[in-house]
Amino acid sequence: MTEGKLHWIEEDVADLKERGLIINLRTIASPPGAWMTVDGKNVLNLCTNNYLGLANHPRLVQAAQTALETYGAGPTAVRSIAGTLALHRELETAMADFKHVEDALYVQSGFLANQAAIPPLVGKEDVIFSDRLNHASIIDGARLSRAKIIVYEHSDPDDLAAKVEEHLTHYRRGLVVTDGVFSMDGDVAPLDKLYDVAETYGLMTMVDDAHGEGVLGHGGRGIVDHFGLHGKFDVEIGTFSKAFGVVGGVIAGKKVIIDYLRQKARPFLFSNAVTAADTGACLAAVQLLTESTELVDRLWANTEFFKGEMAALGFDVGHSVTPITPVMLGDVKLAKTFSARLFDEGVFAMALGFPTVPEGLARIRVMVSASLAKDDLEFGLEKFAKVGRELGVSA
Ligand SMILES: *Cc1c(COP(=O)(O)O)cnc(C)c1O
Repeated sequence: MTEGKLHWIEEDVADLKERGLIINLRTIASPPGAWMTVDGKNVLNLCTNNYLGLANHPRLVQAAQTALETYGAGPTAVRSIAGTLALHRELETAMADFKHVEDALYVQSGFLANQAAIPPLVGKEDVIFSDRLNHASIIDGARLSRAKIIVYEHSDPDDLAAKVEEHLTHYRRGLVVTDGVFSMDGDVAPLDKLYDVAETYGLMTMVDDAHGEGVLGHGGRGIVDHFGLHGKFDVEIGTFSKAFGVVGGVIAGKKVIIDYLRQKARPFLFSNAVTAADTGACLAAVQLLTESTELVDRLWANTEFFKGEMAALGFDVGHSVTPITPVMLGDVKLAKTFSARLFDEGVFAMALGFPTVPEGLARIRVMVSASLAKDDLEFGLEKFAKVGRELGVSA
């Protein structure tokens, strides 16, 4: 029997269940390829962030094996004491070259990258201007800094300017931070206009490009490349866990900042370095993208085809300008039923509801990938059409 003092947890969980918000974990027994084994069933994968199909690319797997044999399983130290492997530095240099920035710092995850990068730059006397729809890891990183957080309206440079005008004088210095690609709607921050506002007021600038890294810009060099803002944005946060197919976060930008973070960033100073196997696989991913734009080109061709066909079938695919394809359904129960029916039909695409997206804007989010062949995309479209007709959503 649960002790009385923990009874509140059972009550809270019962409440989540009643509101249809409980998270049920599906378990995976294969690589996240075009087809994958989910809860024992072979299904079409429209769900992972394996944008370029790198997660199970033979070169990444081989690089991980080689690194494992060279360096062992784990570094057993934080980066700042005895955990900085030659391979970590190789990856940081390759990433900085790839993105045309002065320097880069590899940390354990994209989530931690925000906790590593924000608190050293601003403190109690400072202010952060943050987009209303910023990712949870930016919000947490901002809170950890103890700076004042002022939220500006989503992707609205005019509102940013008004809020900066109103608040900045009360603080020592300011930082503007935004997602690059917003992961629920697939829209892109107006980075050039945000930059102009930041320049006018002398604010530091940071963009979290987790969903743009390996997707946007020339050959996947990210949102700063997409907008031609090289050398202008102070800090670019990225992840190796999405398009790059592995794990880890990266903080890229001006050398003066990256060097400073090596002195101050707490996840860098107080949490173990990433394993050699993961680091080796990340390095292979950067090398692959440096050599060729083929995978990124295929991702965009697949995206154009899939979105065009979905719209032709009568689905509302929102206002995404990236491979993230929200299929807007509105009601969370409808979205969950739709997802469950797709799964029966052999398609894995998850429903997202509140609090991940606003109430009444539930959807199925399709993640297009370069690993999908034309036949795979057509299979997915056919099943969407079938379930859509059945549930009265599409023509
Ligand atoms: C996914 C995501 C992260 C987290 O990245 P991980 O490497 O998975 O920790 C951080 N920021 C944004 C904007 C993301 O979309």
